[in-house]
Amino acid sequence: MQYISTRDSTRHYSAAQAIAQGLAGDGGLLTPFYIPRLPKGALEDMKSMAYQHRAVYIMKQFLEEFSVKELTEFASAAYGPEKFDTPAVAPVRTVDGNTHCLELWHGPTCAFKDMALQMLPHLLTASLTKLEEEKTACILVATSGDTGKGALEGFRDVPRTKILVFYPKDGVSQVQELQMVTQEGDNVGVAAVVGNFDDAQTGVKRLFSDRAVCRELEEKGYFFSSANSINWGRVLPQIVYYVSAYCDLLRDEKIQPGQTVNVCVPTGNFGNILAAYYAREMGVPIGKLICASNRNNVLTDLIRTGVYDRNRTFYNTMSPSMDILISSNLERLLLSLTQDSEQVREYMAQLAATGRYELSDILRTRLQKSFAGYCCDDKETQRVIRAMYDGHGYLIDTHTAVAFSALEQYRRETGDETPCVVVSTASPFKFCDSVLEALGETEIAQGLDALDQLTARTGQPAPAPLAGLRDKQVRFDRVVEKDHMLDAVRALLG
Ligand SMILES: *Cc1c(COP(=O)(O)O)cnc(C)c1O
Repeated sequence: MQYISTRDSTRHYSAAQAIAQGLAGDGGLLTPFYIPRLPKGALEDMKSMAYQHRAVYIMKQFLEEFSVKELTEFASAAYGPEKFDTPAVAPVRTVDGNTHCLELWHGPTCAFKDMALQMLPHLLTASLTKLEEEKTACILVATSGDTGKGALEGFRDVPRTKILVFYPKDGVSQVQELQMVTQEGDNVGVAAVVGNFDDAQTGVKRLFSDRAVCRELEEKGYFFSSANSINWGRVLPQIVYYVSAYCDLLRDEKIQPGQTVNVCVPTGNFGNILAAYYAREMGVPIGKLICASNRNNVLTDLIRTGVYDRNRTFYNTMSPSMDILISSNLERLLLSLTQDSEQVREYMAQLAATGRYELSDILRTRLQKSFAGYCCDDKETQRVIRAMYDGHGYLIDTHTAVAFSALEQYRRETGDETPCVVVSTASPFKFCDSVLEALGETEIAQGLDALDQLTARTGQPAPAPLAGLRDKQVRFDRVVEKDHMLDAVRALLG
């Protein structure tokens, strides 16, 4: 399997190069040359497999240079019982007759980023070995919350890597901050940046492109690498759980072989829903892909009007991991819809110059054939949390609630009652305050005490990784100005 840039299909890369490099030299995203079709009978075959084996089966289709033995080792390390609190790894819970919820938050950080970030370090270090790279990877991450902790857990104590996470000092929740500053491992570092998420991200990008800094690193035996969601090594493990969910529904006789299911995904950077699209391209009988957004509804507008326009107000919402106006992974979908990297390059040039682009009529029609877009505000998000809890005894987080709202709107508008898999991306305990408020609590406890309050209100225990934060030592208290982020890098590398 060869990989190409979304902006230039003439140069080919191997899978190891695509994963090690992260981004193409022309600024495009490295993407498979084509999406392989699953062999006939594959879904039936996978019905009886454990999640880990399904992962090997799917990933192998894209990673010819990796052996089954290698991938099997990676999958059992990434998705084993020390990491995930259920042997199903990504269980499907049936909410009502034709609504199923795919829970992706049973990993070590209680958010869906674990599904990819537990696998990425294995893929990355093996790729470096295959490319005979001898230096150590220094992974820099700017985070608005979930990615930072997910990457720290994924890369902790992974040989030949160091990881440094920057988060905005006042831009993450108390639980998220505690998760990061108590991180264990000998190769990790965490620093708060005075400023917002954009300041942290801009600072990281500046370090990556600073020649003098890169030279300094090289002399010390390091090179910069990234773990953000445009790396193919993060998208690929996400395809697996869509295939797996379909196999579970088959196995449990909730659907018939070949029966179509829709998928509804709470979306920010477009990585998660793109993986669902690829699963469909592989031959999983997925019908509509329902793209759910919060008040930052740039994708809803794109799907409805064909115009992508990020010149608009940015809102902080109670589903912060979806507070995004630049959905990077959309570029890969454009390549798939156009089959023309030159056209993608033109759209991206327009986006860079004006913050906006408009799809041709043909493309818009193609997009609408596959996708439906819906959005909701915080008030509706809380209404849905309450309704799911009162009506089904099912406690969901704010991001998942946005998806359930989108599904409700979709069904009301279209009357399409096709079975649907709604993707649940975080444990409700990660966003305690908003969930408690939705359940009608007026006085919300501070910090970790909110976990106990949610347990008292619902009778459900907090996930162990969150409850356990109480006993952890704070290991990192460095706060840097946005122009001094290099100090944190030097402190980590010595
Ligand atoms: C990252 C994240 C999302 C958005 O996922 P994308 O792949 O960026 O679309 C949704 N929910 C939660 C809880 C997340 O952490």
